[in-house]
Amino acid sequence: MQYKVRHQNEFSDPFGADIGIMIGDTLSPEFWILYMADFEIPPTADDIELMGMLISHLEQADDLLLLALSAEGLQRKMDIFYQWCRVNFLIINAIKSGISYHGPAPAIMPVFRFGNSPVALLMEYAYVGMHFHTGNYRVFSSLIKPHFVEKAQKARKTAHAVLHVESMIGTLPVHEGKILYMGCVDPHLIYGCEVTLNTSSQLFDLLFDVQKAFFRRLLGLSKTSIKAAIFSETGIMPLQFRWLILALRSLSYFLKRPADTYVRAALNESISLHTQGKSSWFGDLKINITRVCPTYSLPDADILLSAGPDSDVLGDFTKTITNEALRWVESELERVDKRSYLLQLRQEPHENGSSKYRTMWLRQYLKDIQNAQHRKALTRLLSGDHPLAVVRLTWTDNHRIQVPHDERVCRFCKQAVETPEHALLECTHQPLVDLRSNFLREFYRLQPRPVVLNNNMDKRSYLAYLASSQPSFSVLAKWVYSMIKVYNGTVMYVPEQYRR
Ligand SMILES: [Zn+2]
Repeated sequence: MQYKVRHQNEFSDPFGADIGIMIGDTLSPEFWILYMADFEIPPTADDIELMGMLISHLEQADDLLLLALSAEGLQRKMDIFYQWCRVNFLIINAIKSGISYHGPAPAIMPVFRFGNSPVALLMEYAYVGMHFHTGNYRVFSSLIKPHFVEKAQKARKTAHAVLHVESMIGTLPVHEGKILYMGCVDPHLIYGCEVTLNTSSQLFDLLFDVQKAFFRRLLGLSKTSIKAAIFSETGIMPLQFRWLILALRSLSYFLKRPADTYVRAALNESISLHTQGKSSWFGDLKINITRVCPTYSLPDADILLSAGPDSDVLGDFTKTITNEALRWVESELERVDKRSYLLQLRQEPHENGSSKYRTMWLRQYLKDIQNAQHRKALTRLLSGDHPLAVVRLTWTDNHRIQVPHDERVCRFCKQAVETPEHALLECTHQPLVDLRSNFLREFYRLQPRPVVLNNNMDKRSYLAYLASSQPSFSVLAKWVYSMIKVYNGTVMYVPEQYRR
């Protein structure tokens, strides 16, 4: 799209307008704002007041919201708007308009009209893409619930659409999948998160579930896999931390706005409500900080109220919250230690040949292994999401009672617990011995200075070492895939006394 400006009979050079929302013509909303600039409602007692500033209505391009504290006041504003439209060549679409209220309903609900056309009372409505419940409410979460339901639905639908490309291109590589997630799914999951900072974890989980499900599918992990693996393997920020960073970034922006702007007045009003012991956005933000990142704390209310445009009273909250996210993933890994020990022992290789422990990282092995089945087999093995008895016998089953850890023995040799390190490095079952020697021959050939396996080594550490050694990721994954295939070909061993 190109624009020209005409002044009388003169035309400017054509120019593009690249800033704006994603619609066909980026300047249209701006033109609309100019057109609406002389729409004014004289101040009344029915206006909303924020720190002495009266707000009669909100405009987001052609999305207009008339606000009033009484039914009569609202009808009065509707009449003023109707009249303004009549003299400005505009027609209001009464069918597309709606009435809503928050708080107790009036004893008799009046009929609201634009001219002669009645406007319907909506039990749920959307403004600037956010969905709200009409009516009385005790907690903000019940007012905003439709927003969470709507965004979770949209995000899930988009996540399915992104993953559906697999039916056309084969398996989606993890690196590309993460880019598509950030571009297509994440925007739904963070939409309006700065203002819906909610204290209901039930509603938040609607969105968090979409994030977890997307990355489990992308990595090839099952629904019962540990959630820490999602973040440790992809480096994606868990949603609750991303939300909090965005909310504090908004607060930082609000604080930088001059005192005579609406947004700053709204912030100061919110802080004042909180200091009076009433619920407010600021109060919700504080609750959220305590819950998600207790190592960060906001400055006192009076410091925030008097903070000027140049102040930096919030400090480096992104760093603090990112560190907290790392700690959270680490604590999650420790909580499920029996399944996550390889993720905790394994290191991330560097280009210079060294390696380093990283809690959350978009893993190099995910990029290096081209065969998707092999790659997924390795991710599942490292994440404790494999079909070996040590994990599988923890599942409830009608045909057996709980088998203690030490008796979940190998289905082939029955000499040791059936773990990844036993299956790969110890078991004497001949097909596994053959696979092992083939792998090790290839591994020693690919590594510049390989550590040679011997019987005295701690097998977990050696397996973690193999999973940290870069040039051989593909052969490692192929070996893991083949080993699992051997195990899947034979029924798991359940000792007699645990069978039902
Ligand atoms: Zn064995």
